[in-house]
Amino acid sequence: MSGFIQGIGRQQDTLLPERLDDYIAEDNTVRVIDVFVDSLPLINLGFSTIPSHTGRPGYHPSVLLKLYVYGYLNRIQSSRRLEREAQRNVEVMWLLERLTPDFKTIADFRKNNAKAIKNVCREFVLLSKRIGLLDTDCVAIDGSKFKAVNNADRAFSKAKIERRRQKIDESINDYLDEIKRADRHDTKESRNTIIQLQKRLAKVREEAKRLEFLEAELLESPDRQLSLTDPDARIMATRGRSSVMVGYNVQTAVDATNHLIVAHEVTNVGNDRSQLSNIAIQANEVLQHDDLCVLADKGYYKGEEILACKEANITTYLPRTKTSNSRAAGLYDRSEFIYDSENDEYTCPANQILSRRHRSVEQGKKIDTYYASAPVCRACRKKEHCTTGEHRRIRRWEHEEVLDELDKRMANEPTRMQTRRCTVEHPFGTIKHWMGHTHFQMKTMNRVSTEMSLHVLSYNLKRVISILGVNELIEAITNKSYA
Ligand code: SF4
Repeated sequence: MSGFIQGIGRQQDTLLPERLDDYIAEDNTVRVIDVFVDSLPLINLGFSTIPSHTGRPGYHPSVLLKLYVYGYLNRIQSSRRLEREAQRNVEVMWLLERLTPDFKTIADFRKNNAKAIKNVCREFVLLSKRIGLLDTDCVAIDGSKFKAVNNADRAFSKAKIERRRQKIDESINDYLDEIKRADRHDTKESRNTIIQLQKRLAKVREEAKRLEFLEAELLESPDRQLSLTDPDARIMATRGRSSVMVGYNVQTAVDATNHLIVAHEVTNVGNDRSQLSNIAIQANEVLQHDDLCVLADKGYYKGEEILACKEANITTYLPRTKTSNSRAAGLYDRSEFIYDSENDEYTCPANQILSRRHRSVEQGKKIDTYYASAPVCRACRKKEHCTTGEHRRIRRWEHEEVLDELDKRMANEPTRMQTRRCTVEHPFGTIKHWMGHTHFQMKTMNRVSTEMSLHVLSYNLKRVISILGVNELIEAITNKSYA
């Protein structure tokens, strides 16, 4: 090895013993974790800091919290791996002051402090706001599906049970036919075949019984789904190559300037249609903006949600979903009928007036119906492009003006959707990459939410470090007047 850089001999004594602190550079991220966790009001956030008076003393919550923040920041999420890191990783030794909790203690901490960990995540968002990184008036909202521990084979919907039952029925019929055929020959070989087939048939019948039992259980669940490993996970459609997955739908609101995650929520609803106002209001609780602007994609388009945002002084930008049956049938689209709010009437492409005729209530929404009289439409030369019925009916929700205003905003500011795309895709991509494109470690909604909070905290922490740098962030955390 001569001619190469030489290491220091393992048995070599040092005159001045090295300190653990010497191994941790001044701008090491682990120093931020240390300062941040030490600055937290742990009791207010929901951690128990009272030592038990009996048995062996436990670990202070700040020790285990530091370990988890370090773990999620460095793609180490499992409690067993964190236990190992505490024993061999110099950064963790420094962070925990050489404490080495066992995996059970580590796992229990995450399990038992769900709410407090979520509060820590929120506390970092508030810190980012205090230091001026969340002065934005605009957030982009998006949802992404994350895999649950639950295997797809252990999740059932009504349609899936139906498909399986059909296959089982086919298998039973096939086995019965084969047994019949084998029964025609009275040989030793055929008798053996029959015994084998009967064994397989019994197994298939057992599976049919299990399916019946699962179906009964499934019918009791409100959304007609059943997951055996993680009861809260749901079968969801995805845009990826495998079109369905068993998992959770995670919603985030990301600020359009620094791309920090302002609010997040884990749901087990397979679509985004009812999520807009909830996550937008959560984001505004943090940002406290008088007229927050929210960008979302068409999957969030739902009148009631857009109205709820308006009532909370939140301005929405999202494209209308194009589900017009008329256009598909080659007839005039609804947008070609112009509404006159003063007179409460529509003008059709043939310049005729469609008056309000009656009001009905559909799924809790008050809907008005407008149409011209039958003789007017009958005499119209454009009728073949307009309707196949007696007259064309236009339906209007009582709060339709909210949607009309949204359409105008979208037409006036077409670049908003580009901003949305550039803002929301980065955080989900990064978090999934850190997770290693695998599933959550924990089961059930509450615990999965805790895990997501740790991911979001790590994402935000890394993002702020890349904007400010380690030393400035430490200065911001320790100096309350920093801005
Ligand atoms: S059919 Fe009736 S509603 Fe349609 S364009 Fe003619 S007059 Fe107007």
